[in-house]
Amino acid sequence: MNPLKDIFRLIFPSQCAICRTPLGHGITDICLTCRLDLPLTYFWKKADNPVSLKFWGHIPIETGSAYFYYMASGRWRSIIHNFKYRKGWRYAQMLGEWYGAELRDSGNYSDIDVIIPIPLHPIKRIKRGYNQSDWIAKGIAKELGVEVDYNSVTRKTNNTSQTKLSYTERWVNVDDIFTVRNPSRLMGKHILLIDDVLTTGATIISCGESISKQVKGCKFSVAVLGIAGDYHALPPKDSEHTKEDSGVVNRV
Ligand SMILES: [Zn+2]
Repeated sequence: MNPLKDIFRLIFPSQCAICRTPLGHGITDICLTCRLDLPLTYFWKKADNPVSLKFWGHIPIETGSAYFYYMASGRWRSIIHNFKYRKGWRYAQMLGEWYGAELRDSGNYSDIDVIIPIPLHPIKRIKRGYNQSDWIAKGIAKELGVEVDYNSVTRKTNNTSQTKLSYTERWVNVDDIFTVRNPSRLMGKHILLIDDVLTTGATIISCGESISKQVKGCKFSVAVLGIAGDYHALPPKDSEHTKEDSGVVNRV
């Protein structure tokens, strides 16, 4: 107990970062009403779900999930937007922790060896000051008790933003933009790839393909915070990795 701190709080109560309601004692950042308003997907409870499906046929995928539906409107949109543009790393980590607790309790993420956030190009990272996916990964890692590897995979091309590109342009824009620095470090590992919002999945697939090309025997799971409401399932580019050999069908 710190009486001075309590008096300060009484005069200047902390506010919910979303709705600006004064927060009660012991509650930080987000009020309970806003937290309950987060439109959760519950995909992590079932390995066979729309996010997992998106990666079948592209990379050797075990399971995938999104924490919540990223809506065009709604109170949570501004927080996610702020991840990139207003130094919102703190909320990225907070949501990562909430999500990580769900992933841990589901039992579907118990054999992850290493967590890799989808890297930004170094120039973009310097401009922004941080990679929001690093902070999401940090929050998830805390709950799963798994190491985050920030260095083994790098983005070698500073591609343009995917947001205003067409479906086909998104694929071309991210083709062969990642490389692995130290392939032996990841050999045979089950890698959990982390990103903020999933749309076509092209960037994550490109990253997974680059790792698969350079690292023997690795497999992937994917955890994104938000899944965009307007996403489309991509047709498989090849038949190398099928639904049957992904292992997903055999899991709960
Ligand atoms: Zn609130």
